Parts: sequence; C-alpha cells; structure tokens
Amino acid sequence: MSDCLFCKIVEGVIPSHKLYEDEHVIGFKDLRPLAKSHLLFIHKKHTKDILDLTKHEPDQLKDLFRGIRIYAEQEGLSEKGFRVVTNMGEDAGQTVFHTHLHVLSGEKLGSFGR
Ligand code: AMP
Ligand code: ZN
Repeated sequence: MSDCLFCKIVEGVIPSHKLYEDEHVIGFKDLRPLAKSHLLFIHKKHTKDILDLTKHEPDQLKDLFRGIRIYAEQEGLSEKGFRVVTNMGEDAGQTVFHTHLHVLSGEKLGSFGR
C-alpha cells in the first residue's frame, strides 16, 4: 500500500468528505479550511507536485480543471467566483506531496501572498 496520505484517501483507507468524484479526480473538504468552502482536488494517480505532474502526467491538468469546472457549475460558483491555489515546495509551505489544487470559495477572499 502507498505511504502517501492522499493516495490513502483515494483508496478509501483514510476517510474524507468528498464533494466531487469522477473517473480521474476527487474533490474533498480540507481538514483545516481557510475559507467558508475549501476543497482539495487531486488526481487519482499519484504525482508529487505541480512540476512532477506537468513533466510526467501533463494530461492530469485537464482532468483536474475539468473536475473543478464541473464542481463550480454544480455549486453555482461561476458568478461569484473562486480561487485555485497550489503550493509547490518548501517556500510555498507544501506539506502533502501528492499534487493538490486548493479551491477556495463561499466568501470574499482577501489578497494573498503577502
Ligand atoms: P499544502 O500545505 O498545500 O500541502 O496542503 C495540504 C492540505 O491538506 C492542508 O490544507 C491540510 O489542511 C490538508 N489536509 C491534511 N490532511 C488532510 C486530511 N486527512 N483530509 C483533508 N485535508 C487534509
Ligand atoms: Zn499519492
């Protein structure tokens, strides 16, 4: 079995609150939300970060953003908007090394990165 936390979520070994799932991607609630709604979108096939993904599995980007689009449409987010963030490496504070996109919504989001 994989040692990766998010692979374990994909396998169902670790529970998660899933709000989106298709053949390739799941979207589940972040344990420590930074906005009213804070989901993590991950591909079911492991890569460690966005550089690894774009180098070795570039088609996963399409799968991930397709999932986010469908979720956004379902939740009526196209009008109000939302934010997609990915942390890459130490300076960005990446803590889980299975590529994930944070999707923040449900309120006015402050400026970030400062
Ligand atoms: P990052 O800091 O960008 O690597 O993001 C990792 C995110 O995973 C953090 O926002 C954590 O709150 C979240 N997280 C860690 N463990 C879990 C878990 N078991 N279920 C849901 N979210 C988690
Ligand atoms: Zn993984």
